[in-house]
Amino acid sequence: MPLRFAHPEPPRPGARPRVYPVFLPQAGCPGRCIYCNQPAQTGQRPEALETLLARARAGALALPADAGPVELAFYGGTFTALPPPWPERLLGLAAELRGLGRVSRVRCSTRPDAVSPELLSHLRGLGLDLVELGVQSFQDAALARSRRGYDGALALAACRMVRQASLSLGVQLLPGLPGHSAQDLARDIETIAALAPEHSPELVRLYPCLVLEGTELAGMWRSGAYAPWGLPETVDALARALLRLWAAGIPAARLGLAEEQGLGVLAGPRHPALGQMARARALFLHVRELLAALPEPATTLSVPRRWQGEVLGQGNALREDYAALGLGVSVWAEAEFALG
Ligand code: SF4
Repeated sequence: MPLRFAHPEPPRPGARPRVYPVFLPQAGCPGRCIYCNQPAQTGQRPEALETLLARARAGALALPADAGPVELAFYGGTFTALPPPWPERLLGLAAELRGLGRVSRVRCSTRPDAVSPELLSHLRGLGLDLVELGVQSFQDAALARSRRGYDGALALAACRMVRQASLSLGVQLLPGLPGHSAQDLARDIETIAALAPEHSPELVRLYPCLVLEGTELAGMWRSGAYAPWGLPETVDALARALLRLWAAGIPAARLGLAEEQGLGVLAGPRHPALGQMARARALFLHVRELLAALPEPATTLSVPRRWQGEVLGQGNALREDYAALGLGVSVWAEAEFALG
């Protein structure tokens, strides 16, 4: 009797509004973090907020109205540390666009040490829906080595604070920071999983640390004081992270940085199909675990058609790994996977 099972990823919510990003490069940031080069990451130089506001309004109004409302996202800086009245003015624009039916939801990114219950509640009242916290890690040693200026306890408290303010929560992690190991990532993921269900994030982003030109990390890398994670260990660590998050019912929104032109990556685990590779390996690890628990060995993994492009990974790299488990992989018309 074959063992049937569903893909371990929690069911994805139905169609979500498209995210329309408004980048505010390094606006509100207390300094420049050692790995950060927002102009390279966002493809935009820092500019006056007045200019960014005007451009955001024009850009949002120029979106085709028949494509439906978007989710307006203020990214690339520390939104909650913007000097007044900028959070209010930017959320005022969002409210105006919401009134015109152009925006259905509003999110921002910020640092864990730039939020307070009062501020979050104020911003919630102005129409903010989701706060993405650039936690990067909950491990004190890694945070200290990257001079983030807060510790793991504060980062965790900030996550809870966002949910207690009735806002949705996003958590960004930066695996592979100086002093951050795969074990540290596993601990970070356990911390996030333990937020569920009461303070559960709506999404988690995993951005493996890359060495970008023009950053302090580039100097550390050149002097040999920092070595980024290799690609295979990154894929494996991300796969384990995904499995744990999925088991806690938490989706992962993005793996790896978007490839902007001129990103200037000097070193690090960069691959255009990183997400696909990690997802395929996560499924492989899941299958391996199920197989080990079977009373009798299985010889075939049957894969639903909708997953066939994802199971074997980039260039069918996992075919040999499945073969090493004694499994041939075949596609079938059923909706579930099966081991038999
Ligand atoms: S707080 Fe975020 S956006 Fe600002 S410098 Fe640091 S990493 Fe970059």
